[in-house]
Amino acid sequence: MNVIQSAPYSALSMYIGGEFVSENGRKTEPVFNPADDTVLGNLPHATTQDLDRALDAASRAFDKWRWTSPLERSRILRRVAELIRERANVIARDLTRDQGKPLSESVNEVYSAADHAEWHAEEGRRIYGRVIPSRSPSVRQAVVRQPVGVCVAFAPWNFPFNQTLRKISAALAAGCTLVIKPAEDAPSAAVALAKLFHEAGLPHGCLNIVWGVPAEISDYLIRSPIVRKISFTGSIPVGKQLAALAGAHMKRVTMELGGHSPVIVFGDADVGRAAALLAKLKALNAGQVCMAPSRFYVHKTILDEFTEAFTKAFSTQVLGDGLDQTTTMGPLAHKRRVDAMELLVADARNRGASIVTGGEKLPRSGNFFPPTVLFEATDDSKVMRDEPFGPIAPIASFSDVDEVVSRANALPYGLASYIFTRSLQTSHYVSARLEAGMVSVNHFGIALPETPLGGVKDSGIGSEGGSETFDAYVTTKFISEETA
Ligand code: NAD
Repeated sequence: MNVIQSAPYSALSMYIGGEFVSENGRKTEPVFNPADDTVLGNLPHATTQDLDRALDAASRAFDKWRWTSPLERSRILRRVAELIRERANVIARDLTRDQGKPLSESVNEVYSAADHAEWHAEEGRRIYGRVIPSRSPSVRQAVVRQPVGVCVAFAPWNFPFNQTLRKISAALAAGCTLVIKPAEDAPSAAVALAKLFHEAGLPHGCLNIVWGVPAEISDYLIRSPIVRKISFTGSIPVGKQLAALAGAHMKRVTMELGGHSPVIVFGDADVGRAAALLAKLKALNAGQVCMAPSRFYVHKTILDEFTEAFTKAFSTQVLGDGLDQTTTMGPLAHKRRVDAMELLVADARNRGASIVTGGEKLPRSGNFFPPTVLFEATDDSKVMRDEPFGPIAPIASFSDVDEVVSRANALPYGLASYIFTRSLQTSHYVSARLEAGMVSVNHFGIALPETPLGGVKDSGIGSEGGSETFDAYVTTKFISEETA
């Protein structure tokens, strides 16, 4: 066991009104290491009184934070970015322990979150209104954008540091305060963030972090009259439930939901380069990425060449504990994801696909499922219809551009999509027609702080990142002044 592995897992708590709130007789739930099923710590659940205190703290803090200058808000977010970079290794170590991804991926996630904090610090100073020329010289017509109020957010377990930080940064930079319930499965990231914001001098109550039974917490918080906006990243069924509840109370939503990203590899693509890049992307976080390439449509003229090159690159992953330096792919975050992988493989095989590599859970403790390639998966198989959210790559062939666009658009998902071609004409034609919030051509070019991330159709509403990030956190107010 090396020094990193032997260091203790950080203590878990909530963060309410500027105080770190630990167990103290509250109900708790165990947090597991998905690499070996050991218990890392116990997470306190919020009582109803805790939720009320968090809402009250956020509401009182909003009265001041909304009038705090964007420059001062920016200063705090910049300081958080500095602290993130200083503490990256310790944060990443705990992130690997409770989430499972290899340490190098956790370090990348943490550094990328620092970039997000910094970018929001800058962009938050540019939430401009406008002046509209009036019909009378004595009237001034102005449009101002004001923070929407207290927000609640629900962040997922697959990128628990980055996704939690994105939601916090967007809300705070816009002048809102928030109560956030990150994912209970991988909680160390959010606790680390609370400490960093606390140390950076964020006024108490601007950020509150609570844990509990997700459905109970979301139901209570969304119904609260204090709350004006909801942000959720997670699965489509849960997103629809939360959006419906928010709609019933006329509250804004940002929904970043699941995807089933089509990859279209045309006959003129650089096959070796596409296969190598896609194998790397597919292995990232063991495939538990909402924008992971997940349905592979390969032109029939290069089908065998692509399948061979992709399988060679994808199957060489070294599976293991993320803290082991030789590991390139960690376990799945939960046992339920392993069960889901087994069902998808069995269904695809029954419908005629062949298994090129992988396909069965590894016979060891922890939630390990190997890189799996399914050849000639049929369009009606579950794995081609339901987001796999795991290390499975189903490959199918196509022969015509309009046919493949129609197959890519046939599902209710619309998050990311990928095209590989050397033809500018094909790139323009297909990227204009894909029903997706993001299209990346010949590379992986999405999820940067300065670019919008979001989906269409069932994949969500609104964007996180890019200047669009603030749209859901501000209201538009029109002020018409007679000055004579
Ligand atoms: P799930 O539907 O059980 O849960 C998804 C997330 O939502 C979890 O973080 C969970 O804690 C939370 N959640 C569940 N019910 C909730 C409720 N009523 N109120 C508030 N939060 C609630 O699915 P899962 O097995 O945990 O994850 C797999 C699925 O989740 C995937 O199919 C994928 O679509 C989705 N997912 C998407 C993202 C993303 O980045 N868009 C991230 C994580 C998970």
